[in-house]
Amino acid sequence: MKEALSNRINSLPASATLAMAAKARELKNQGVNVIGLSLGEPDFNTPDFIKEAAIQAVNDNFNSYTPVDGYGELKEAICRKFKRDNLLDYSPSQIVVSTGAKQSIANAIQVLINPGDDVLLVAPYWVSYSAIVVLAEGNPIEIYSDIKTDFKITPEQLEKAITPKTKMVVINSPNNPSGSVYTEEEYRALAAVLEKYPDIYILSDEIYEHINYGVPHFSFAQIPSMFDRTLTVNGVAKAFAMTGWRIGYLGAPEWIAKACTKMQGQITSGANCIAQRATIAALDAPISKIQFMVDEFATRRERIIDLLGAIEGFVLNQPKGAFYVFPDVSHYFGKTIKGKTIENASDFALYLLEEAHVATVTGEAFGCPNNIRISYAASMKDIEEAVQRIQQALT
Ligand code: GLU
Repeated sequence: MKEALSNRINSLPASATLAMAAKARELKNQGVNVIGLSLGEPDFNTPDFIKEAAIQAVNDNFNSYTPVDGYGELKEAICRKFKRDNLLDYSPSQIVVSTGAKQSIANAIQVLINPGDDVLLVAPYWVSYSAIVVLAEGNPIEIYSDIKTDFKITPEQLEKAITPKTKMVVINSPNNPSGSVYTEEEYRALAAVLEKYPDIYILSDEIYEHINYGVPHFSFAQIPSMFDRTLTVNGVAKAFAMTGWRIGYLGAPEWIAKACTKMQGQITSGANCIAQRATIAALDAPISKIQFMVDEFATRRERIIDLLGAIEGFVLNQPKGAFYVFPDVSHYFGKTIKGKTIENASDFALYLLEEAHVATVTGEAFGCPNNIRISYAASMKDIEEAVQRIQQALT
């Protein structure tokens, strides 16, 4: 039978982060000693107190379908978390639990974006935002930022990008891939612009909230004039080393939460029962329980910045959060090394994979074609060896 995929899937780019991780896995399976620094995935085990809650849930026979929007007890725990960490007053009817923050984002965009609506993305942005917008038949519109402004946009840039077609702006702090963290003051200045445009919604992706090295986290919805039109997305993957458990959540105006529940009810239904029970334990625990991981990331961050900074042609910002560095490597574009010509960041990332056996992700996928993303959510040994291999491959 002839292959007849839809135009929708044919025009959808594969997730660059997952594609690179798959490529690295494939090489590993062939016996190649690849160091995977492509995926944003903590190398820690899920803490025991969370695992115990999951085991308890299995033994207590939490095995049935879950409510589409999540267990009531989990939604209450999420409200307590929003209050404790973000001073946000959400009620359980404003919360939707999903299969990862990625699904929370997809739900939000599907329920708000009509064909032809513009969605503003601050480049560099996480790879899947633009694809998710395109799936909703919206137009991803990039607002460009670079290393000179620490990958942040100014209120003037935001205002210039707004048109009558703008329906949503997606913000992400701490940022994947740049690690930049917006201060309260910077967010208030962006909000002052948005106050003039009451029909624009704000999707605030805060999944890296706790992976923060000193700039206090500020939730966009904390700004009173923004609360009623901000959708706050978070999850347990990054802070609690629970990537595979797939639990994300959204806090939003009730009418949006209801729409997300309706959307999810037709696609995946409620998120996994055991993972939801484990998430209650994670969110109710004091943040001090996961501080050791953040401290370790901070140490690795210092080290990788030092090591990469010493390589010719690597221009780095100082990430204040998340666990990525995002060097500008355009110095190498147009050069031929060991017989291979590097025209762009994708060639560069491929070169590192083939020559140094180090997996990274091209900045093109994040809307910044001069850069590559390197995750330091890996052991210090792997980080040090990876940088050494990169250096050797480039000299
Ligand atoms: N968000 C992580 C990353 O950027 C996980 C992979 C993905 O879902 O894109 O690496």
